[in-house]
Amino acid sequence: MTNWTTDDAEELYRIPYWSDGYFGAGADGQLLALPDVGNREAPIALQSVVDELREQNVQFPVVMRFHDILKNRVRQLNETFAAAIADADYQSLYRGVYPIKVNQMREVVDEIVDAGRAYHYGLEAGSKPELMAVLTYDTSEEALIVCNGYKDEDYMRLALLGRKLGRNVIVVIEEFNEIATLLRLAHEMDVQPMIGLRVKMRVKTEGRWSESSGERAKFGLTISGILKAVELIKAQGYADAIRLLHFHIGSQLSDIRYVRQAVQEATRVYARLVKRGVPLAYLDIGGGLAVDYDGTRSRSHSSMNYTMADYAAAVVGEVKQICDVENVAHPTLVSESGRAITAHHSCVVMQVMGEISNNANPVATGPVEDEDILVTNMHDLLTNLDDTKNYQDVYNEATWLFDDILHAFKLGVLRLEELARSETLYWQLLSAISHGLDDADFVSEDLRKMQTSLKSQYLCNFSLFQSAADIWAIDQVLPVVPLTRLNEEPTRHVTLADITCDSDGRINQFVGPYGTSATLPLHNLVAEQSYYIGLFLTGAYQDVMGDTHNLFGRLNEVHVFCDTKDPTGFFIEEFVPGSSAGQVLQVMQYNQPAMAQQVKAIIDRAVASEKLNSREGVKLVDFYEKCLTSYTYLCHP
Ligand SMILES: *Cc1c(COP(=O)(O)O)cnc(C)c1O
Repeated sequence: MTNWTTDDAEELYRIPYWSDGYFGAGADGQLLALPDVGNREAPIALQSVVDELREQNVQFPVVMRFHDILKNRVRQLNETFAAAIADADYQSLYRGVYPIKVNQMREVVDEIVDAGRAYHYGLEAGSKPELMAVLTYDTSEEALIVCNGYKDEDYMRLALLGRKLGRNVIVVIEEFNEIATLLRLAHEMDVQPMIGLRVKMRVKTEGRWSESSGERAKFGLTISGILKAVELIKAQGYADAIRLLHFHIGSQLSDIRYVRQAVQEATRVYARLVKRGVPLAYLDIGGGLAVDYDGTRSRSHSSMNYTMADYAAAVVGEVKQICDVENVAHPTLVSESGRAITAHHSCVVMQVMGEISNNANPVATGPVEDEDILVTNMHDLLTNLDDTKNYQDVYNEATWLFDDILHAFKLGVLRLEELARSETLYWQLLSAISHGLDDADFVSEDLRKMQTSLKSQYLCNFSLFQSAADIWAIDQVLPVVPLTRLNEEPTRHVTLADITCDSDGRINQFVGPYGTSATLPLHNLVAEQSYYIGLFLTGAYQDVMGDTHNLFGRLNEVHVFCDTKDPTGFFIEEFVPGSSAGQVLQVMQYNQPAMAQQVKAIIDRAVASEKLNSREGVKLVDFYEKCLTSYTYLCHP
């Protein structure tokens, strides 16, 4: 063995670069959560949480939430803006809001509201049900509640209900027709609304969310729309109600250039409106603060070329500069950062169930009598490989030959045994070529793809569609790290497959030393030893966007808190059970009791016709009923 250390593991899995200090490797090879950023005095070993859960018979996969990380993020965002404001001598405040669409789980929002109270941190809703959730919270009196998205009358009535109770609920006008409705309802309910105007931005971003800005954006008013809106609102006697100017140019803004450009554009609009007598007081810069998923600190779409501090300084600096030039009072700054608040706090922990490999069951390939010439040719390619060393040429020939072999089999010329021998020879040849390429200066695209196809897949007990939809939908990269053995050099290079019946249900893009990598280094699997891996940074969007592909449903969840007085460093505050088979079937209109009855009736008939005896029948009915109430994922000992 080499002198591999946990420092090497941290470097290999790029932990310091993507984790923002919330995770690290312990000396004993355990992956640690460090909710108190980087404080290795108060670590939580993820495998210890796994062990405790297994003792309690909790089934995996499990979503682990570290609430201390959430609190830390809320503090960090608010204090970073406060520091930027103090540094720039900016003459106003920061009053952020958390957009709950990023993760609406009650416990998550509870924690954020709690941690945010001291900073007058508020909430943002993008739909009627989200506003209903937001209205249940007792945020600070000064905090804002921002209502975005298209609105019907009930959505607006709910917002005005908040106004009746004295809360700072701001209805952001996304579309011109919303104005008349809002003012009519405000009049009916006899309450002064707070109005925000969303400006459609000219700045054109690139990346996954580029459609949120530019002329074709779905939301917001053009400049002429804004001027007409102001006139209309004034004419109706509600001029005092216009308080906030809002924009949102997309999520995960990888390049800070776009942040600066958008803030410049919007601040200029803000200043000019104020000069026309519009009583604006808040400038809301929307979301977009990115997360460095791949740890490259670059403009790649899974990364960001700035820090949170750079972001706050850029926003504060640009707004101050333009307002000073325009001679307009500095607005209260609002941001709707969601991803940056919740991404780090949760991860999905799953067990590797086994290995899928093309050459797992080789047959003997020694020459046999009467062997077909096609098989012998494959044999010769392998035997002579060392002499030729022209790997590309041999690979081309082997590919054609294997096509001919399959063809010959279809025409009935080759026997099953011959096909099996050819298959084994073919995979042996490819792996010999792959080894040969280890010292090559240049490897063609074709051969590189071939090398990747040789890698084994580790089968993992999870559903990509449920737990990391963005990996499938938008090629998002998320870090994956084993929970143990970080003091041991991983010797396998694999891709990951999930347990859905969909060949898209796999991960074949990983955080690597130079950006992304097609395979992930993991340890060899040891019989009788369980091996758990974690999928990280899943707390924003992934947690709540999952779909029920193959009816796997929601995961078991645990909420883990730091407890420095406990020898393990943690306690599990809450266990939230995931979906049972019966529950996910219910969503598809199956009725659990009816299903049990129907299966019982079928079994009773089998007993009556003596295909089963009564005792077996009763056992099978019980077993079916037990499965209805059990977890949907693979059960394992
Ligand atoms: C989605 C969204 C956000 C959250 O964006 P993040 O990039 O996750 O911070 C904020 N505001 C609006 C209007 C949104 O649509």
